[in-house]
Amino acid sequence: MREATQRYGVDLSDEQAAFVDALRDFFARELDPSPRGDSEPEMHLEGLAKRLGDLGWYGLTIPEEYGGSGGSFLDLVLMLEETARAEAPIKAHSVTLIVASILRRFGSHDQKYALLPAAAAGGALAIAMSEADTGSDIASIKTRAIEDGDGWMITGSKMWCSWAHKADHILVVCRTDVEEDRHAGLSMLMVPRSAEGLRLNPIPTMGGANTCEVHLDGVTVPGSSLIGRRGEGWKQLMAGLDYERLIIAALAVGQARRSFEVGLAYVKQREQYGRSIGSFQVQRHRFADLLATIAQARVFVQWAAVRIDERNGGPFSQEASIAKLVATEAAKHCALECLQAMGGYGYASEYPMERYVREALVMPIYGGTSEIQRNIIARTLDL
Ligand SMILES: Cc1cc2nc3c(=O)[nH]c(=O)nc-3n(C[C@H](O)[C@H](O)[C@H](O)COP(=O)(O)OP(=O)(O)OC[C@H]3O[C@@H](n4cnc5c(N)ncnc54)[C@H](O)[C@@H]3O)c2cc1C
Repeated sequence: MREATQRYGVDLSDEQAAFVDALRDFFARELDPSPRGDSEPEMHLEGLAKRLGDLGWYGLTIPEEYGGSGGSFLDLVLMLEETARAEAPIKAHSVTLIVASILRRFGSHDQKYALLPAAAAGGALAIAMSEADTGSDIASIKTRAIEDGDGWMITGSKMWCSWAHKADHILVVCRTDVEEDRHAGLSMLMVPRSAEGLRLNPIPTMGGANTCEVHLDGVTVPGSSLIGRRGEGWKQLMAGLDYERLIIAALAVGQARRSFEVGLAYVKQREQYGRSIGSFQVQRHRFADLLATIAQARVFVQWAAVRIDERNGGPFSQEASIAKLVATEAAKHCALECLQAMGGYGYASEYPMERYVREALVMPIYGGTSEIQRNIIARTLDL
């Protein structure tokens, strides 16, 4: 039976509906189906990632010739939503697919052949754009790569590189040429995590320490590490960020559903004043509003995915930014509202809601903050 939060979305083919059911069955079988009250659970299990790789699901959107399943973007959105809703501990999956999407579009055949099959099998890739002084204003990055014989020597420090500690390779965005226009002269280099001179430093956060500083101290890589074209890094990054934003949006819908379902189950069974707290009008309206919020986010994210599939790529910054803004704010709002709905038990680590809040709070920040999404949307309005 479909959950209320799963009722609204685009029309699915029989295969897509069966895929969603298969994912739900798999996660229900493989994961503890009860909400996890563990306040710092393991976030990425390599064994589970490999099993999903064996099923052909982990590398869903990676082309078949490179070991993936060649699925559509809508397939991916459906999978990510179910993954987040099930709290499946494969958190490095999404960033791996973000890097894979950049490789797929801009990498050479040899680069794809070298990197994508391992990713599709359950491996991990990471992306290092942000620096200590450069977050939203990403074109100001300082990490420098200079030509070194046939290759490159990279020096600088990156910040917030998620899952770098699990990744086989890190896609480093760096400055290869100093140009008057700071958007020019950026390039992408694929660096093995094991490279000499590369050092990681985990950053403790409200959601654990799964994002890292990456220090590159004269790291040398061969010329074949350049992904796409020298000096075209900005354009490539912008195209990659559109994918990233939709990927985060799909995860946010799943996370909002999880908060909603756990919160709803709680208010149905908790009694005060001799009746279920869910029967109080304030709770009834709260959950009605939350369902409406999730339905809107879900429909928009799926609609955007269909449009992207129809267009076979192409610019979709406005759709990606709307999806990210709406869905990540929905996830944050749902988690905070469900915590309030649960009273003191929402705040207690014995229940998972406080963790859902911590996990949801970062969603309107990474991948470009909500303010930046609004700036991007406003730019398309010729104000
Ligand atoms: C857990 C986590 C994981 C991350 N993973 C990665 C990763 O894997 N790879 C990676 O490269 N980066 C990653 N990031 C970095 C993330 O993308 C940045 O944190 C984000 O883009 C914001 O940059 P900042 O933190 O430097 O904030 P700042 O850019 O300093 O912004 C601070 C505040 O100012 C506002 N602001 C800034 N500029 C404007 C403007 N022009 N108009 C209006 N408001 C503005 C912002 O919205 C924000 O509220 C991650 C971050 C976190 C917290």
